[in-house]
Amino acid sequence: MGIPFDFTGKRALVTGATRGIGRAVAENLLAAGADVIGIYASNTEAAEKFKKESPCPDRLQMHQCDVSDEKQVAAFYRKLEDSGEHLHILVNCAGIRRDSVLAMMKPANWQRVLDINLTGTFLMSRGAVPLMMSSRFGRIISISSPVARMGFAGQSNYAASKAGQIAMSKSLAKEVGRKKITVNCVAPGFINTDFIADLPEEQVKAYKKMVPMRRFGEVQEVADAVLFLASDYAAYISGTVLEIAGGL
Ligand code: NAP
Repeated sequence: MGIPFDFTGKRALVTGATRGIGRAVAENLLAAGADVIGIYASNTEAAEKFKKESPCPDRLQMHQCDVSDEKQVAAFYRKLEDSGEHLHILVNCAGIRRDSVLAMMKPANWQRVLDINLTGTFLMSRGAVPLMMSSRFGRIISISSPVARMGFAGQSNYAASKAGQIAMSKSLAKEVGRKKITVNCVAPGFINTDFIADLPEEQVKAYKKMVPMRRFGEVQEVADAVLFLASDYAAYISGTVLEIAGGL
C-alpha cells in the first residue's frame, strides 16, 4: 500500500529519530514528501546509518541535541530561525525509562526520566509554537503511553512523565487552537524496539498475555497513526490521545 498523504513542502522535526518509533515516524514523513530534521541524543553512529540508508537523504538532516537541555534546545531553534526555515510538524519521540519500584527509586532516576520525557517535550514544543504560528499551520504530536492512565509497577517515574505529556498537550491545544495548530498524543503499548529489548523472555511472555491481541506492536503501526494526525485529514482533531496498544 502506498502512502495516501502528500506532505510536499512541509517541514517536520522528529526527536528521537535515530532509532525505534522515531525513525519509523521520520521515514514515513520522508516517504510522504516532507523535509525532516531528526534529533538524537548521542548515538551518532545510528544517525549516520539512518542518513546513509534513507532513499531521500537530501530531505533528511540529523542534528544532535539533548531535548532536556534548555541551552541546547534554544541554540537549535535559534539556528533554525536564522536559516529562515519554516516548521510545520513536531513529533516528540525522544524518551527513556529507568524502572524501579518507587520505594527503591533513586531521585536521579526519577529526575532524568522527567527531564527527558516531560521537560524535553515542553522545551521542544515551546520552541516550535512561534514557528508554527508564522506558518499558520502546526501539528504537535507527542509519544506518550497507556501507563499514563493505567500506571505500571516499577514505572512511577515513567508513568508520571507520560501523564504529564498528555496534560501538557491538552493545555497547549487550548492555547493554540485558534492558530490552526493541533496538539495530540499517541500512546503506543508494547512496541518492538531497543526500548524494551532488555525485558527477560518470561516477562515478555507475561506482557504478551496482558495484550488482548496477544502480540507486541511494530513501529510502523505507530508511525502510521502519527502520519494521520499530522495530515490534513486530522485538521479538527486536537487535545486527544490515540492509543495504539492492541486493546491493552
Ligand atoms: P528507542 O528505540 O530507545 O529510541 C529512543 C530515541 O530517543 C533515540 O533516538 C535516542 O537517541 C532518543 N533520545 C533519548 N534521550 C534523548 C535526549 N535526551 N535528547 C534527544 N534524544 C534522545 O525508543 P522507542 O521505543 O522508539 O521509544 C520512543 C518513544 O516512544 C519514547 O518516548 C517512549 O517512551 C515511547 N514509547 C515506547 C514504547 C515501546 O514499547 N517501545 C511504548 C510506549 C511509548 P540516541 O539514539 O542518540 O540515544
